[in-house]
Amino acid sequence: MDLTFTPEQTAFRDDLRSWLAENPPDPEPMDGGDDAHFAWRRDWQRRLYDAGWAAPSWPAEYGGRGATPSESAIYFEEMGRARVPFSANTLGLLLGGPTLMVWGTPEQKERYLPPILSAEEIWCQGFSEPDAGSDLASLKTRAVKHGEEWVVTGQKVWTSGAQYSKWCMLVARTDSDVAKHKGLTYFLMDMEQEAVQVRPLRQITGEAEFNELFIEEARIPDANVVGGVGNGWKVALTTLMNERAGLGFALQIRLRQLLDDLIARAAGQGLLEDPLYADALAELHVRCESLRLMAWKGLTDAERYGQPGPEGSLVKWLWSDTNQRLTELAVDIVGPEALTAGTGWSYEFLRARGNTIEGGTTEVLKNIVAERVLGLPRLKAAA
Ligand SMILES: Cc1cc2nc3c(=O)[nH]c(=O)nc-3n(C[C@H](O)[C@H](O)[C@H](O)COP(=O)(O)OP(=O)(O)OC[C@H]3O[C@@H](n4cnc5c(N)ncnc54)[C@H](O)[C@@H]3O)c2cc1C
Repeated sequence: MDLTFTPEQTAFRDDLRSWLAENPPDPEPMDGGDDAHFAWRRDWQRRLYDAGWAAPSWPAEYGGRGATPSESAIYFEEMGRARVPFSANTLGLLLGGPTLMVWGTPEQKERYLPPILSAEEIWCQGFSEPDAGSDLASLKTRAVKHGEEWVVTGQKVWTSGAQYSKWCMLVARTDSDVAKHKGLTYFLMDMEQEAVQVRPLRQITGEAEFNELFIEEARIPDANVVGGVGNGWKVALTTLMNERAGLGFALQIRLRQLLDDLIARAAGQGLLEDPLYADALAELHVRCESLRLMAWKGLTDAERYGQPGPEGSLVKWLWSDTNQRLTELAVDIVGPEALTAGTGWSYEFLRARGNTIEGGTTEVLKNIVAERVLGLPRLKAAA
């Protein structure tokens, strides 16, 4: 892996850097709650879209710039460096769009990709259920075919951004008589129907980022099956691999910013002279650098083999563990402010608790790394 930029990569970085310098986002809204915050991120995505920067890794035919994975990494690094917000339609841009590019029909790509990019239609991910999280294949939401449409009934949970979404990447059971992985189908479900009720769940941070979905005979046209009936498991894996690789890259950059902020804070308080704090910060620095290099390697592999591999699970696991350590150390350094509701550090500390659950729990990611990266034997259930 050669991390020296080519002249093209340097030009790409300079273009983006100067655009960001001339087009900063509006200041983050301090009032108006979750809705105002979401509107702010949506507006930011629209501005990126107008300038052709919403998703440079997407092929030019779908509105991107056909950027290589390395250029895509440069993109995330520059966005992080400029400290701009995440786009409102992050799940559409990083998960839904790339999944459609692999599995979608030409009609689906033409219909759904442009409004993902422009943030006109927001996407959410309807995978997890009350009794099916890590063991996704045991999900119970059922879809039954009636003529040219599917009738869907069931419950989803933890559906991030569902309250703002037009489309849901929904995995449902379409056949109960075959092995559980084989009886699943991946749908695009229109959220704007009476049969889909969205109930926000308030988190420890105070925000309602995710929701419960109650689905009672919702209708999905047959044309909204993605990747074929009974093929939902494979399509869902494409979504999950993009989640761990794409989001992992963006998140390790955010981690670096937080660490820089914490080091500055510790320096301001004279704590860098204290070997205990200096050691802990140095260890976090080493972890951040390892994560950065691993994330780059993941993208280089994706460039070489055409899609992200299971190594993304390692980045996601180490990122979540490091972010939790960092925010815990921040509580020691920052003091009571980091435990006071409404402060930036308290938000980071509380939000980090979910990091080892979302996008695959740490235990499950360790299993993937053991079996699919290291080639260790599968753990057998005790008799
Ligand atoms: C902030 C946040 C946002 C989320 N957003 C979404 C979203 O938008 N869409 C969506 O579909 N889901 C979303 N999720 C759900 C997330 O993917 C699940 O919570 C996750 O997959 C775990 O499932 P579960 O909560 O049912 O836990 P369970 O699967 O019930 O796990 C419980 C415990 O058992 C352990 N465990 C389970 N299986 C194994 C195993 N084989 N080996 C060892 N240990 C095991 C787990 O590690 C965990 O500690 C989100 C979660 C969070 C926290």
